[in-house]
Amino acid sequence: MIYKRSSALFAEAQKVIPGGVNSPVRAFKAVGGDPIFVKEAKGAYLYDEDGNRLIDYINSWGPMILGHAHPPVVNAVIEKARKGTSFGMPTEIETKIAELAVSMVPNIDKIRFVNSGTEACMSAVRLARGFTKKDKIIKFAGCYHGHSDSFLIQAGSGAVTFGSPNSPGVTEGTAKDTLLARYNDLENVESIIKSNKGEIACIIIEPVAGNMGCIPPVKGFLEGLRSLCDAHDILLIFDEVMTGFRLAKGGVQELLGVDADIVTFGKVIGGGLPVGAFAAREEIMNHLAPLGPVYQAGTLSGNPLAMAAGLAMLTELNDNAGIFDSIDKKTEYLHKGIAKVLEEKKVVHTINRIGSMISVHFSENPVVDFESAAEGNNETFKKFFHGMLNQGIYIAPSAFETWFITEALTYDDLEDTIKAVSITVESL
Ligand SMILES: *Cc1c(COP(=O)(O)O)cnc(C)c1O
Repeated sequence: MIYKRSSALFAEAQKVIPGGVNSPVRAFKAVGGDPIFVKEAKGAYLYDEDGNRLIDYINSWGPMILGHAHPPVVNAVIEKARKGTSFGMPTEIETKIAELAVSMVPNIDKIRFVNSGTEACMSAVRLARGFTKKDKIIKFAGCYHGHSDSFLIQAGSGAVTFGSPNSPGVTEGTAKDTLLARYNDLENVESIIKSNKGEIACIIIEPVAGNMGCIPPVKGFLEGLRSLCDAHDILLIFDEVMTGFRLAKGGVQELLGVDADIVTFGKVIGGGLPVGAFAAREEIMNHLAPLGPVYQAGTLSGNPLAMAAGLAMLTELNDNAGIFDSIDKKTEYLHKGIAKVLEEKKVVHTINRIGSMISVHFSENPVVDFESAAEGNNETFKKFFHGMLNQGIYIAPSAFETWFITEALTYDDLEDTIKAVSITVESL
């Protein structure tokens, strides 16, 4: 495939946008080459500026769970836009989407909308600190919770890809309040809590990790965190920005039956518009301004276009619960197909999957935490990425990312993808 126009557009972009992109992983630094510029997208396909059609496995990093330009979502946005795009005043649709989200997700009474997953996680931690009157937080190596200062400590995907786990600009003062734990290692968490007795406000975790590839929690891990939090007056924050409204209607809390104290959302909840949200039981949420002392605000929060897209998306997912089953089955089909090819061709690999999240690692050991995820062969991944791209399959341009399956993918698309894998691995 030819990507001439994309490369020309990238050259122009680099003159006025740092690195030519507004979010680093888009720049292809980890895999080499120039990024693809998208012209439009429909269903499971991207159409780029050179006229290529690509089968999309990123789906805007998760939000487009029903495929691109899904008519009910697009129509809802168009209809709203005609009536004004922002007021900075309350609108009825904010209550509608809040009611729906609260009804779909277990264990939450109230929800507040913000503009990104980053904002949701940042605000959730502030709320946890305000509620518990403690300062320190525990996060896990390889988990990503957006780019706010407290989280840029071994932060998975983007940050890992660029070898800057601790970004300059994050002060030592901020970093010292973020304690780093190993994913899937309960004893490690326990010992951190012991040596910081009475100081920890919250544990924030991707309950299924998706930013170091896809890493499901081992049996008993989330349950163990829940007990530790209960025993030590620590709030448990599930960052469900990636997993919320994807792995089940009610996210990981529903799927794995473990309750969090605060849950954060993003991606799917906005239907492809900039939306994040955080939610908890009433007692905790009432600590937020204007009811309580913890400040949090946003000029464009609850924006009518964003709420219209989100409401249309959640409504579809709520009315057709079969969607989750259907995308899980598609993902399983893809998993089996790719595994078969890689085994036949004797390519060293580990495939992780849960629901509609899947990642292919070019390493033979189980991938269960950040260290084991980092063992994967990056050179092999680069070749794999470009091989797939040349056959019109767009996977994430980094070995640390999950592939997101959309309901728009057909079994023919999946077959084409498996065929592309089998051609690609010939030249690995
Ligand atoms: C994407 C992501 C975020 C950040 O969301 P943005 O909308 O990019 O700010 C936070 N947490 C997780 C788990 C994510 O996958």
